[in-house]
Amino acid sequence: MTIEHALYLHIPFCQHRCAYCDFTTYAGQDDKIPAYVDALIQEIELVAATKEIAAKSIFFGGGTPSLLTSNQLASLMDALCANFDFVPDIEISLEANPGTVAAVYLQELHEIGFNRISFGVQSAHPDDLLLLERIHDFLGVVQTVHNARQAGFKNLSLDLIFGLPEQSLSRWQETLRQTIRLHPEHLSIYALTIEEGTPFGHWADRGMIPLPDPDLAADMYEWASEFLEKNGYTQYEISNWAKLSSSGKAYTCKHNLQYWHNLPYLGFGVGAHGYTENTRYSNTPQIKKYIKRLSQVELGDSNFEFPFSPAMTFQEKIDLKTEMSERMMLGLRLTKEGVLAKPFQARFGHSMQDIFDKEIDELLKLELLEWVGEGDLKALRLTHHARILGNQVFHRFVS
Ligand code: SF4
Repeated sequence: MTIEHALYLHIPFCQHRCAYCDFTTYAGQDDKIPAYVDALIQEIELVAATKEIAAKSIFFGGGTPSLLTSNQLASLMDALCANFDFVPDIEISLEANPGTVAAVYLQELHEIGFNRISFGVQSAHPDDLLLLERIHDFLGVVQTVHNARQAGFKNLSLDLIFGLPEQSLSRWQETLRQTIRLHPEHLSIYALTIEEGTPFGHWADRGMIPLPDPDLAADMYEWASEFLEKNGYTQYEISNWAKLSSSGKAYTCKHNLQYWHNLPYLGFGVGAHGYTENTRYSNTPQIKKYIKRLSQVELGDSNFEFPFSPAMTFQEKIDLKTEMSERMMLGLRLTKEGVLAKPFQARFGHSMQDIFDKEIDELLKLELLEWVGEGDLKALRLTHHARILGNQVFHRFVS
């Protein structure tokens, strides 16, 4: 049986490194893009040669995938298409920086086969965008969304960040109001986290920027949640909201749902992670090393077994207990669906209560978890007020 996987391609290039970013991405390395695209194609071919895989979703993430030319993206798509079976309603997403995409480029993306774009908007306010060192302004976002619609995209996602230094509740509210006027089908909303090793981390250590106020951030999240529900968006994950299509189907992100359902995915590219056949793995985070390792192997000469390629630098086997813990931690992120009882039992041969009796009992008493639904729809999920306290719940399930 061909097992459906989500496929992730990492594009580790950015025009400028934003002050808060700790992703695997590099500025000033664009001269390596052509060799990197060749290496990615090589990795796709090597991995696909070891097993027949059906692709359920494809996600080009970064970094800034929209820094690749449409020809480069088309060759990657050709390689994917030639090496994997695509399910009929496959979701193919690309993350784009609103400051880097012209109208004609968006048309080319649509022709290549992309059917979903996720734009990193972050804020509608110029002071926030300046602080984050983003290269776009909100007018550019409005124009880009218009161009994407003209190009034929019917599924757009916009990312926003809240809890920024000096960001007031009213400024955040204005960002949300302006953003939904663009009618995106999907919204991802994240609280700023200040990561060590980033410029934001250094500035916060030296007291040069105020640390995010957790109470204000909680108010922002709560307000966003109510505002978006009132405006036709359904929250389906801690940080994600989606509209319903006219046929009643939600514009939830199929690719990310694969992660939250703890189902298999393959990662290609620098720093990419994969999880399949009870194995988790990741690739080298260095572009030069990645290109070198892949350029030294010929298709057919590789001794690597599925799902590994020469770029892999880490692998671990996931035992059943860990898999069940991860199923709980990831599934509880799904605020509407939660973790369904019957599929859990069918997948693991044990009920959730068999394995996590004590943890579930404690969290029910603390009113952080609740049972909802009946029969096939019976599920355990976060209570409304636990959405902002997710980490306190998830760590209880760590084995
Ligand atoms: S554009 Fe995105 S990936 Fe690139 S540096 Fe900025 S936050 Fe990081």
